[in-house]
Amino acid sequence: MLFGDSPSPGLVGIAKLAAQSEILESKRVVRYFEMESRSVLNRTRPGMPFEWSLNPYRGCEFGCRYCYARYTHEFMELRESVDFEDKIYAKSGIGPILRRELNRIDGSKGISIGTATDPYQPAERRFNRTRAALEIFAEQSGMALSIATKSDLVTRDIPLLKEIAKRNSVSVNMTITTLDTSLARLLEPRAPGPELRLKAVQAIAEAGIPVGVFPNPIMPLITDQPERLDRLAKAARDRGATYFGGGVLFLMPCSRKVFFPFVEQNFPHLLRRYREKYESQAYLKGPYREIIRERVAAIRDKYGLNSGPPRRELAAWDDPQGLLFQAAG
Ligand code: SF4
Repeated sequence: MLFGDSPSPGLVGIAKLAAQSEILESKRVVRYFEMESRSVLNRTRPGMPFEWSLNPYRGCEFGCRYCYARYTHEFMELRESVDFEDKIYAKSGIGPILRRELNRIDGSKGISIGTATDPYQPAERRFNRTRAALEIFAEQSGMALSIATKSDLVTRDIPLLKEIAKRNSVSVNMTITTLDTSLARLLEPRAPGPELRLKAVQAIAEAGIPVGVFPNPIMPLITDQPERLDRLAKAARDRGATYFGGGVLFLMPCSRKVFFPFVEQNFPHLLRRYREKYESQAYLKGPYREIIRERVAAIRDKYGLNSGPPRRELAAWDDPQGLLFQAAG
């Protein structure tokens, strides 16, 4: 017995068997909390391709095994390995706070939604915090907005994205680590499968919104094989993505606590190498990163893909009907 309890002596037959049964798995319970926020835009580190980030939630139900954003729950003194996936905090008052903050910053320097949570995780269906932010962006002009997600739920907001695109630059970065459905399920147990994400890429492209695919993070000896990356880039191109890029896995201490046991269970032959390379550092050193950079660049060239979304000239922002953007797209 799992908990050492003994079945009630009066039970017989199926009731007795049921009482004696061991738990194979107990169902996950995800709890949602309202989190008061004073600010929703965060300035990023120098060198990032965008100056501001916006995360409508804290925590992420998708539970990717390599996720670096688990540190955000560390700050709240929660268990980053479990609570990050099971305790989701939806930020309150996003709309008015964002409107106020956008008045104070230069949004043309780049704002990325979804750097530490997936803005289209299941919570978004109910709490609409990402949508609340997009509604504010639809009032603006001159912003350079990008959205990173693994979810096809982003297609729900295509009409809003088209509205934003009339006076701003907006692009969607779809993360697809692998086309292998079984591997994706292992790595990203609760995220939509790769085919759903590709369908979303197609719908976004058909709506005229720039969309790219990122096989991030590229995991050594798990997702880094040239043929895997090649197939993914081709599928991305075929569905209308115009850019493709990828970076090598980095493992912060909070991610190692989840990723090492995952490797031990699913890729035991790789554990020693992962430990050697990542035990004392988050980023890989040595030539591997350059090899991957060249590999991705060669595949990009092969399929005529760019490394990022098209850039609009700032002088062209004053274009209320979005004609220039339509011409560029
Ligand atoms: S979707 Fe992104 S934020 Fe969510 S668990 Fe996966 S890597 Fe982390």
